[in-house]
Amino acid sequence: MYDNYPDNTNAHPTASDAVAERQPSSEISRPPKVGILGGGQLGRMLLQAAANYPVETFVLENDPLCPAAHLCHHFTNGDIRNFDDVYRFGKGLDAITIEIESVNVEALEKLALEGVKVYPRPAVIKTINNKIIQKQFYQEKGIPSPHFVVTTHLQELNLHSAMLPAVHKVGMGGYDGRGVQVMRTQNDFTKGFDAPSVLEKMVDIKKEIAMMVAMDDHGKTAIYPVVEMVMDPQFNLLDYQVSPARVPETVGWKAEAIALKVVRELNSPGIFAIEMFVDKNDDVWVNETAPRVHNSGHHTIEANFSSQFDMLWRVLLGYPLGNTKAIKPSCMVNVVGADNFEGDVHYEGLAEILKIENAFVHLYGKRKTKPGRKMGHITIMSNETHELPYQANKVKQALKVQSIQVDKGEM
Ligand code: ADP
Repeated sequence: MYDNYPDNTNAHPTASDAVAERQPSSEISRPPKVGILGGGQLGRMLLQAAANYPVETFVLENDPLCPAAHLCHHFTNGDIRNFDDVYRFGKGLDAITIEIESVNVEALEKLALEGVKVYPRPAVIKTINNKIIQKQFYQEKGIPSPHFVVTTHLQELNLHSAMLPAVHKVGMGGYDGRGVQVMRTQNDFTKGFDAPSVLEKMVDIKKEIAMMVAMDDHGKTAIYPVVEMVMDPQFNLLDYQVSPARVPETVGWKAEAIALKVVRELNSPGIFAIEMFVDKNDDVWVNETAPRVHNSGHHTIEANFSSQFDMLWRVLLGYPLGNTKAIKPSCMVNVVGADNFEGDVHYEGLAEILKIENAFVHLYGKRKTKPGRKMGHITIMSNETHELPYQANKVKQALKVQSIQVDKGEM
């Protein structure tokens, strides 16, 4: 346990916590104790926003040097997938949230029964952290999402040639494009997953868009403007993102109605990122939902009145929802580890970026880089929406994430 909170002991559980949890935050004499499962960049940015509120923060992660460790009041070294670690961490907290879905849900269920506010609710994490259950949820609720079949073993793919072209997605554990295989012909079936998965019809994508929606514990919602995501074909990661999305108004309305339906059906307080596809007919399909702060909402730190991180604190602490409106159009570029560099990180071109008007730099404090690793992001705001992709490109050209130890053979 790494305890950074000056006037507290390591023993965060207190007997009065369960009672305090049921009172509005403003009536609690001490700051509420809120835990985050995971200490990566999302946890780090959540903690940056927490500094503005009366809250005592706790992080559980298995790396004491993780991006969030030094920004929380109390750091616990442990495994977010382990029942005992999560239960012990959460016992005595007023509220708990997640920065990643692969957490021990059984421990969260027990904590919720014992009076800890778990936002998003454990049932939602269960629905979402398995792509099979997530897809079945969309189907049951009549939410448009690409047609799919479930496969358990690799050989079963041969029964589904009629689905081609398709995308095979492993049920559990995939993220950032890992756990996703594109299948164009039957020859690609060998590249599939020999584990419970979904085989999904490929959508003829015109645009990938996303919407963030927050819901408070009275069921009130706040919805951010729709954003457009441009994917990096090499890493299958978000390349840059533009807010607001350059889509017809009718597409925006469809996306908003669908995103709201997803969150209302999930029926949980928290913040949600709904990733969607717009096809060539301007139909909108849900790809997936993240029940947490998300990469597609990073621009909201500067470009919207209430950021996604600020918003989640409002939900967790029982305050009114914030203003989701955009202050200015923006684009956001992920800063990822360059090819051929692995080791202690070194940033090339940071000064160039900082010369750009209205460019905001966020580095996540990761000590080691590797190809494709998310190391930071840059947000640029401008009234000239048409200039934003140009600015995004400029950032990508100027800033390189390398390592101190350069492998000369690969340069
Ligand atoms: P992850 O959860 O690992 O991010 P996704 O399910 O979001 O994986 O898929 C990653 C990317 O693969 C998407 O952003 C999209 O570009 C592409 N993709 C996923 N599903 C489909 C589909 N049904 N049709 C077309 N492209 C898809």
